[in-house]
Amino acid sequence: MKKNLLLTPGPTQIPPEICDVLGQPIIHHRTPQFQQILKEVTEDLKYVFQTKNDVFILTSSGTGAMEAAVCNLLSANDKVLIIEGGKFGERWTEICKAYGVLPKVIKVEWGKSASLEQIQKILQGEKDIKAVYATLVETSTGVTFDVKAIGEMVKKTNTVLVVDAISGLGATDLPTDAWGVDVVVSGSQKGLMLPPGLAFISLSVKAYNLMAKAKLPRYYFDLQMAKKAFEKTDTPFTPAIGIIIALSESLKIIKTQTLQKLFTHFAKLAKATQAAAKALGLELYAHPSCASNVVTAIKVPVHIDGEKLVKTMRDTYGIAIAGGQGEELKGKIIRIAHMGCINENDTLTGISFLEKVLEEMGYKFKLGTGVAAAEKVLNS
Ligand code: PMP
Repeated sequence: MKKNLLLTPGPTQIPPEICDVLGQPIIHHRTPQFQQILKEVTEDLKYVFQTKNDVFILTSSGTGAMEAAVCNLLSANDKVLIIEGGKFGERWTEICKAYGVLPKVIKVEWGKSASLEQIQKILQGEKDIKAVYATLVETSTGVTFDVKAIGEMVKKTNTVLVVDAISGLGATDLPTDAWGVDVVVSGSQKGLMLPPGLAFISLSVKAYNLMAKAKLPRYYFDLQMAKKAFEKTDTPFTPAIGIIIALSESLKIIKTQTLQKLFTHFAKLAKATQAAAKALGLELYAHPSCASNVVTAIKVPVHIDGEKLVKTMRDTYGIAIAGGQGEELKGKIIRIAHMGCINENDTLTGISFLEKVLEEMGYKFKLGTGVAAAEKVLNS
């Protein structure tokens, strides 16, 4: 019997206890029963966001919260700085352009982290930059950006720092308040182990102040509307009721495990995967100084068809990993996730089948060396 294992960097696997909740009959959202849940999950999300700021739940995929972080903060022709190091950094630029905002883009070489000196220089020289848009974990390259250092620089200015933590929230450390991140956006289908359908956004006082002057058009993602509704423990539109109820189960799991333990756990899975890749003679795509604990990107050997490798793992063996995104990376890398409810067994199974398929495709190596290297890390 074929079983499916999801090792993709979103959506991630959903634990059985959350699946049980998702299978329950629906309740109406304008009821005290749902309002109690909405209130509790909104409060508990602050633990995962590591913030005292307001957090709002939107019904959309993560990109909806990214759009909200543009159209609620800015006016047409406002200048913003975008740190763009992959597909999802590019998304910030695309959204800003769609709204007539003027993005100044720092193009970071894919697989590398941003130059802090360059960011500093721009912030010092161009005081009219309203917001900096960055990414915590660039899922397309497997890089974690130094949000702490960026936060330290932006904190000293009037600029608002916005971070896409769609990949990474609940899987790698992001102390929102301590690092001075004004706006954090995320989604339900990654570290939170839920189906796609919820987006989240946190807002600092500094962000609210910028929002008060922002004139871009908005409707569905109007955060003033979300705030007003939430004052009555309500949402402006019909929320994804079932996923919000399941979120309550997910937050229970995360709080019981604790964020710190989860971060350590995923870091270990990442180290094990990196060790396996090296033992198999495969190169990591991300520079070691910024390789993420949330997703590992591995270069596919030149004579191996990367798209076929991903397809065979998924269709023949039921192990879903991700390939490369965009023309630059299509077929050239594979990506393996370490977030949500992925555990050591899953990681070892993924590596084992990666070996199996690589061998079938004619790649020369000693079978079992990847698994052995990963086990060494996991057993340490
Ligand atoms: N940003 C990052 C870093 C992501 O990983 C993703 C999803 N892969 C997105 C943005 C887009 O999120 P969604 O697909 O939920 O809209």
